[in-house]
Amino acid sequence: MSIAEAPKQTAPEIKQTQCFIGGEWVDAASGETFETMNPATEEIIANVAAGDAEDIDRAAKAARKAFDSGPWSKMDARDRGRLMYKLADLFEDNFDELAALETLDNGKPISDSRNADLPLVIDCLRYYAGWADKIEGKTIPIRGNYMCYTRSEPVGVAGQIIPWNFPMLMAAWKWGPALAAGCTIVMKPAEQTPLTCLRMADLAQEAGFPDGVINIVPGYGPTAGAAVVDNPLIDKVAFTGSTEVGKMIMKNAAQSLKRVTLELGGKSPNLIFADADLEQAAQGAFIGLYLNQGQCCVACSRIFVEDDIHDQMVDKLVGMSKERKVGDPFDPSTEQGPQIDKTQFDKILGYIESGKSEGATCLTGGGRQGDRGYYIQPTVFTDVKDDMKIAREEIFGPVMQIMKFSDIDEVVKRGNTTEYGLAASVFTRDVAKAHKAAATLKAGTVWVNCYDVFDAAAPFGGFKQSGLGRELGEAALSNYIESKTVTMSLD
Ligand code: ADP
Repeated sequence: MSIAEAPKQTAPEIKQTQCFIGGEWVDAASGETFETMNPATEEIIANVAAGDAEDIDRAAKAARKAFDSGPWSKMDARDRGRLMYKLADLFEDNFDELAALETLDNGKPISDSRNADLPLVIDCLRYYAGWADKIEGKTIPIRGNYMCYTRSEPVGVAGQIIPWNFPMLMAAWKWGPALAAGCTIVMKPAEQTPLTCLRMADLAQEAGFPDGVINIVPGYGPTAGAAVVDNPLIDKVAFTGSTEVGKMIMKNAAQSLKRVTLELGGKSPNLIFADADLEQAAQGAFIGLYLNQGQCCVACSRIFVEDDIHDQMVDKLVGMSKERKVGDPFDPSTEQGPQIDKTQFDKILGYIESGKSEGATCLTGGGRQGDRGYYIQPTVFTDVKDDMKIAREEIFGPVMQIMKFSDIDEVVKRGNTTEYGLAASVFTRDVAKAHKAAATLKAGTVWVNCYDVFDAAAPFGGFKQSGLGRELGEAALSNYIESKTVTMSLD
């Protein structure tokens, strides 16, 4: 795919702001709307339908119909795949608009929307399109004169709740395996970033997805989101967001034993050994922390550096942080845009204050940037102790914590001392050290001499309180499949 450098659009037309239910664009039943803001300017972009339980129920009915009696369950698997390929093509055809819309609603730099988010979205859909006709059962040699086989059947209506940090990508990660498996969808995008998800649904309709297969209900978490979990017509809930809300979802889903997959928070350790390629390690730590304004569940917000190279690495990271270009997300040279909203902005500034008051040393940044938009300076803390708040809690912002270590066993133990277990990384030239760390770090993903390498084919998810189940790869299909055992007498 060739991706031009410069943005083609800076003011994309806002085409869809209503709920998309059963193939129709409709207002919320209550008539309520909410404002979606541009975090770079603090201005309102659009008023969007604020769906609630009633709209989720309408969407669930439409999804139920398309699944139970409608065209989706009757369509050949290969034709489902063809529709998904077509949708990926339409995303490519509308690349400029989608990238600009993502940057407008989320504030992420246009170069990220164009070079990371959207290419990963398109790749993800194509990857799962290829799976649609390859989901198979088994024949099983049981005792007696029987034929026993399994059928891999779609779980039914999938309720999907996604966050605001990668709005299009999180939608693609959830649509891909669900559609390939043959499920229908009720999705609730985050209230901060509903626009690209709605436009994606618009393009799905253009691609020819039958009515009711993909339904989108924008709205707030405690109303629309909670209703996804409670609605009896929905068979499964897939959630990405905070650990706090994830726990609530799991508890509520237990009422009906809905299938649940969760992708939650993290406090990922990055171990940099003295024998690492220091340039590569600094780049990895830098991107690993600052990517997407630090708003990544995998952000390596605990950077452990071996004694001998600690000061050198700190100098490098501070120098790079000072040079990071923060500003207008539509400027193609911008590396860091604003945080998503005032709530996150205030929360991050609160963490910075706690770092200072608990005695960490702030070597650069440490405050707001400018006076308009939710911009925060790239911030580096050293002299961070493991028990400080900034070393324990997820900050979700451009705030780096650097600690020292002197021994592999010690650092792995410290790295694992967290309730989270989403990702970890190791930088070293010593293969044995890399394998040892990769085997002993308690995380769903370990990157060695790299960071933030994502691929639709590679499973992703959390150990411990970072989640339940895996997204991406073949692994994610199982979230949307029920295995049925059929045993037939041959007598
Ligand atoms: P963040 O703190 O990063 O915004 P949240 O976990 O609050 O993360 O939000 C992630 C997604 O979960 C959003 O779509 C949000 O609306 C939704 N959400 C928030 N609260 C609830 C809830 N009680 N039930 C279901 N979904 C919720």
